Amino acid sequence: MSLFTDTLESRLKELGIPYEPSLPEKCAEYYAHVVEANRHLNLTRITGEAEAAVQHFADAMALAAWFRLPVGSRVVDIGTGAGFPGVPLKLLRPDINITLMDASGKKTDFIRRTLSNMGIEAEVLCARAEEAARTALRESFDVAVSRAVAALPMLLELSIPLLKTGGTLAAWKGETADDEIASASGAFSALGCALTGRRPVGRGALLLILKQQPTPEAYPRRFSKIKSHPL
Ligand code: SAH
Repeated sequence: MSLFTDTLESRLKELGIPYEPSLPEKCAEYYAHVVEANRHLNLTRITGEAEAAVQHFADAMALAAWFRLPVGSRVVDIGTGAGFPGVPLKLLRPDINITLMDASGKKTDFIRRTLSNMGIEAEVLCARAEEAARTALRESFDVAVSRAVAALPMLLELSIPLLKTGGTLAAWKGETADDEIASASGAFSALGCALTGRRPVGRGALLLILKQQPTPEAYPRRFSKIKSHPL
């Protein structure tokens, strides 16, 4: 027992999320690797035990409290950083087939090494999302998850092309969620997707966005365009 596992367990109970007895210790182990690696890699600024248990682990798993992730679904975490929210979701739901994607090789190297150490199976990919969407990965995922990568109009262009039609993006947003939603109406219509749910998580919100139509060939554009002229 530790402050980390106590905090995580009480939060999961509050959320009503069932979990295997081994889950808290597995999360604690991954968290210890993050703290250790953070001494020389700039992975995260959230390292306090209680803070990390809530913001990195329980907030990620909060998705499972209201969105039914189908068994065996193909999930991609876009801009996973040190593995969030993708790793906690994989620990909670070992049945999902997860791809942890980040543009930074030092972050993906850390994740690959750590997961292989822990005997956890995942695809770890050093790639930019907008480039991956021009490969066989285009329209290949059932679910995309992402936190703290880009404002919603940009995030939609980075993530929606990777989803199958009928797939869902879960986006963890901070206090600016409402403004971001308001500014994303052009992106929703250009990319054929719609906001279908919004739940408070911490001080921010977890958004669910449904992809309703195949992505037009023009998207995603090059990153410089996505950034300079967001949809
Ligand atoms: N999701 C993590 C990390 C957020 S930091 C968390 O919430 O803790 C943002 C991360 O997104 C960085 O690691 C950065 O390398 C990655 N990133 C930014 N743009 C990206 C892109 N276009 N494709 C893939 N990864 C990207």
